[in-house]
Amino acid sequence: MPLLQRWTRPLRYARTWIALGVLAPVGMLAASGVMLLDLRQDAWDKAEQTSKNLVQVLERDIARNIEMYDLSLRGVVDNLKAPGLGQVSPELRQLVLFDRAATAHDMGVMVVTDESGDSIIDASAVPARKVNYADRAYFQAHKARADLGLVISRPLVSRLLGSRMIALSRRINKPDGSFGGVVLGTLNLSYFTRLFDQIGLGPDSAINLYLRDGTRIMRHPYAEADIGVNIASAATFRGFLRERSGSFVETSVRDGIERHYTFTQVGDLPLILNVALSAREIGEEWRSKAIVIGSIVSLLCGVTIVLSLLFGRELRRREEIQAELERMSLTDALTRLPNRRAFEAAGVRLCGDARRTGKPLALLIVDADHFKRFNDRYGHQVGDEVLRGLARCLSASVHRPHDLVSRVGGEEFAILLPDTDQAGALRIAGKIHAEVSTLAIGSAGIGAGAVTVSIGLIAVMPNGTEPAELTDLYRLADEALYAAKMGGRNQTRCAPRQDAPAPLLQRLLRVMEAS
Ligand code: GH3
Ligand code: MG
Ligand code: MG
Repeated sequence: MPLLQRWTRPLRYARTWIALGVLAPVGMLAASGVMLLDLRQDAWDKAEQTSKNLVQVLERDIARNIEMYDLSLRGVVDNLKAPGLGQVSPELRQLVLFDRAATAHDMGVMVVTDESGDSIIDASAVPARKVNYADRAYFQAHKARADLGLVISRPLVSRLLGSRMIALSRRINKPDGSFGGVVLGTLNLSYFTRLFDQIGLGPDSAINLYLRDGTRIMRHPYAEADIGVNIASAATFRGFLRERSGSFVETSVRDGIERHYTFTQVGDLPLILNVALSAREIGEEWRSKAIVIGSIVSLLCGVTIVLSLLFGRELRRREEIQAELERMSLTDALTRLPNRRAFEAAGVRLCGDARRTGKPLALLIVDADHFKRFNDRYGHQVGDEVLRGLARCLSASVHRPHDLVSRVGGEEFAILLPDTDQAGALRIAGKIHAEVSTLAIGSAGIGAGAVTVSIGLIAVMPNGTEPAELTDLYRLADEALYAAKMGGRNQTRCAPRQDAPAPLLQRLLRVMEAS
């Protein structure tokens, strides 16, 4: 069989199409699934990258501004040590102490206090506006310890301006090193709101700035209630403290929303900044794509499966019809026995088997005697009935599964008996005569014994000298049948053994040898 034919052969079967029709869409679904998962991963990677960039930009801005304010505070602390500063006018002293940072947009006040917390020098007023800061936590912290450096307060309300702010402060030492007050600068929270508002995020996403102790300084989107809240014990905040910067997914204690947090410490300051993107919002674009792609692929797969099943069913129906036609083409319609075609196909096969195995094979040709008379006397229909009866008798006479009874002509039947020698075949012939002798068609008044058959029989051992071609066997059995007819009918005749030379031929050979 050519290679192409061998490969395309399975396509002729319904089950191949059904299997392909189901497997191909399942494969398509799996491939789409992998692709969608890949897209989802892409969405998350993109979100992570965006958050990282955002955090970096915001962190730089905050760190730079606070560093600038801190430089001003350091300048004040250093300049206070300048000799003769106590002797100059308050206006000149103000000019010497405060640089232009004190007038920056989001800077509230910049004030120097004495050791009791009273304001003594004010960047915006001469003489200084009278306020006492002794109760502020940062004042007390500086008073208690000399080495705090820059202290950033929790969100407070400015005593001079009434605005929300955080205070940046540094300690001032007297010449003997003892506590001499603080210099403080306030940074309005509006700086953070303006900074964060520039960034467009989804409604469930957020930007947060915390003090290292867990106090929230600012949140975007802004809500008054969020400012000053301490979340030190929350899982998210514990995550921010683990490393200097990083990212993780966690559920917020504030509102129970799952978010992807990207966080960093702000410069070397005790501040933590994070961008928290809602997991739902990250997946939103992907989800709508997944729904569209998933629906289309599922629909196509569904249609493919249905069409394949329908096609498979149609193909199966055709297979069944073809099998039925094949069966009909090999069956005799009147007797339901295998017909001549089936006999020839099976006969060639059985002869081949016999030749290969060397086992005996017998062929009987059974012909109804004077059948024409039945037709003439009882009519064709009764004749048919007799033929059906004969078919039953013949079928009842053989028992082995490979014995083959067929109707090869009008009132002529052939019986192939594999693995059967002449004695065995004669026993079957005897059985046939006995069965037929009981055949009666009561409705037509044909009694038992009225129908007889003649049988021509041949049994061969296909060992090289005996013929084992079906045509030869048939011819020889037919000759034996003719002999049975000539011998008076209702009898069986065997074809002479084919491996022994005929007596006439032997005599001829002897005469030729003698002459
Ligand atoms: P013989 O003993 O020599 O075989 O005589 P016969 O009459 O049986 O043989 P012959 O070949 O002369 O006649 C066979 C008859 O079988 C001829 C035909 O009318 C009849 N016949 C053949 N096929 C059918 C059939 O399908 N139905 C019926 N009813 N008769 C059939
Ligand atoms: Mg006949
Ligand atoms: Mg005949």
